[in-house]
Order: sequence, then structure tokens, then C-alpha cells
Amino acid sequence: MKFRLFTVIIVIFALGICSCSKSHKSSNRSASGGTGTGTGTGTGTGTTTSNGSGYAYDYVWAIRGGSATTAQLEAVKGGIQRLSDGLYEIGHGAQHLKRIVLKNNTNDGDVVTPVECIGTNSIGGGSYAKTSMGPNGWYITCGGAVDRFTFAHEHGHKEDSLKLAGGEREEEYGGGGCPCVMSTGASGGKFQYCDDTNHNYSFKSCWAAIRNSTSMTHTDGDYSSVGAGPTTEVVIEP
Ligand SMILES: [Zn+2]
Ligand SMILES: [Zn+2]
Repeated sequence: MKFRLFTVIIVIFALGICSCSKSHKSSNRSASGGTGTGTGTGTGTGTTTSNGSGYAYDYVWAIRGGSATTAQLEAVKGGIQRLSDGLYEIGHGAQHLKRIVLKNNTNDGDVVTPVECIGTNSIGGGSYAKTSMGPNGWYITCGGAVDRFTFAHEHGHKEDSLKLAGGEREEEYGGGGCPCVMSTGASGGKFQYCDDTNHNYSFKSCWAAIRNSTSMTHTDGDYSSVGAGPTTEVVIEP
């Protein structure tokens, strides 16, 4: 019997303005049209290590649809530490990118960058990035120069374990928005996870959900900074 995973696609649309606070527009979750209660098979290409206090993500980052140059691969590599430090920051030091294998001219990964988008912060067609279900689980599609807000937003959709934004891949930018990476700059988004002191939807706040499903900790209302995180190992497979 042929088994095909459904695909739910969550897209961030670009409005094409500002830099520090991204403007995204409404979501488009196509295909199954819902929140995706399908069965992911869970044989992801990367692994996630829980060390008891948080998560060290080990991802394959595929450059799809052609071969990037060494200089292009190095440029992507050069941006990854900032993405990791961003996750570290919003997770209060309990998550980071531990290791990224940057695979050239490869179809599947935990993160996929179409080769034509390798130097950009978006994926064309008016979209910044998206998260989809593939043969090995949820994966992010983004530009090779993706900014940390967009990456953290898609990461929130990708990682089932976090149960962000209600645990059902909700967005937090319709009808008011949250001060959260699951929102957008145009809807009051901030580079943090919302909590019960600032969350604006009937489903659980991101931090309430994270605390429910992980050992990560956050005191409501406390957004003190933790600074940069551990060094991410990035291996290029040309
Ligand atoms: Zn949130
Ligand atoms: Zn919220």
C-alpha cells in the first residue's frame, strides 16, 4: 500500500519592508486545510538531543535544486551562529543549534534552501519561509540568508516537541497578534515566546505550552537576556 504523508504548508508572506522587525502577512496552510493531525513517521534526518534542560538541535541543511559554490556555502555557514544564538536567546539558554551539516545539491533536510534563494532572506513568490511535512518529518524551507526572527518562527512550527502557539501549528498574527516570534512584526511580534502575561489567543501561550511539554523553564513576565549561546558546529558537505 502506498503511504503518502500529507503536506501542511505554513507560509510566511513577505511584505518586503523593514529589517529588524519583519512584516509577515497571513498564513496559508494548504492541503489538509487544518491543523495536521496526521502521523509523521518520525524518522527525521536530524536528531534532537534533550539534555534535561533543553534541546540541542542536530540538523541537515540541504541546498536543493542545484549546486552552490563554495563561497555561497560559506556564506550560509556564516549566518548559522546567529540563528542558533537567536533560539538560545528566546529559549533562555535551553536550546541551540548544536550541529548543522550543510549538504550541497541534496533534496531533503530539516532545513531546505532552494539553490536560487541561497543568497536571500526569502524564498520568492512573496514568501519569507515555510514549514512543510516531508518524507522525514517537518522541515523548514528558507533563504540561505534567513533572518533569525523568520528562522525562529519556522522552527516553532517544525519542532513538535515545543508545542508552540497552542501545539497545533497556530499562527499568532491574526486578530491582534502576540508579542512573540510566532507573530509578525506587523502584528506586534517580538523576538521572544509569548507567555501568560501577554498572550492574546484562546489557545495556550507559547511558554505555557513549552513548559507543559519540555523541561525548559520561564518565569512569566521575565524576559531577561542570556546573551550568546554555545558555538554551533557547521560541516559543509560540498
Ligand atoms: Zn507565542
Ligand atoms: Zn501568544
